[in-house]
Amino acid sequence: MTKIQSICEFLDQFAPTSLAEEWDNVGLILGDPNRDAKQVMTCLTVTPESASEAIEKNVDLIVSHHPLPFSATKRITTDRTPTRLIWELAQAGVSIYSPHTGFDSAVGGINQMLCDRLGIASTAPVIPNRKNPEMPGAGRIGKLSSPTTLREFAEKIKVDFELPRLQVVGDLDAKVQRIATACGSGGSFLSKAVARGAECLVTGEATFHSVLEARASNAGMILMGHYFSERFAIEVLAEKMSAEFSDAKVWASERECDPLQSV
Ligand SMILES: [Zn+2]
Repeated sequence: MTKIQSICEFLDQFAPTSLAEEWDNVGLILGDPNRDAKQVMTCLTVTPESASEAIEKNVDLIVSHHPLPFSATKRITTDRTPTRLIWELAQAGVSIYSPHTGFDSAVGGINQMLCDRLGIASTAPVIPNRKNPEMPGAGRIGKLSSPTTLREFAEKIKVDFELPRLQVVGDLDAKVQRIATACGSGGSFLSKAVARGAECLVTGEATFHSVLEARASNAGMILMGHYFSERFAIEVLAEKMSAEFSDAKVWASERECDPLQSV
């Protein structure tokens, strides 16, 4: 029977914890690596919905992109949601592994998957990893096969990812070809991406001030939504793990969804 430890080792190969940002909290962050991993669920975030799915379906290991706990935690009590979830999951024997920024930056990680899906080739990291500058690193920058307008590119993303909404910053008729990606909350990548020649940054979400910065530097910015810029990769990860560990049942959480609605 596959042990949680074997899954941790596989994940650390695929999305190395050594690539994670210093402020991050990655790897096995709750649980017992020596237990069997019969049921494994991936998710973007441990929420009341995904946690109850895990408990009801007797999950042994949650692989959650976003860490829980994320920040330093001195008490595990039920009066706050994050620590209540930790308490409930621990009692149900559920472990948590988080690859987070290691997965964002890995050679085949989320930013590379975004580029592959968007037809962005000849990619390189926006911020190369110091130890291995050629391949992994934070964000990606590359080229579309031919120039397109910002409007057409944004519309294609909306269709390809089946997005309920999408926000765009910049001149919709401007031609773009050199594109950067930064999954999740990636507004802080803008200046480095522009310095590397990016005409457009595709990210999940950005602050108003990052959006103004994009306008001021004549760069396009496409906001897919944090959830949609990363959730697809959680589904890919579940498929990869399922193929690797045939004796475990692996699936992506069916209960988690984008918390944002449009009215
Ligand atoms: Zn994220």
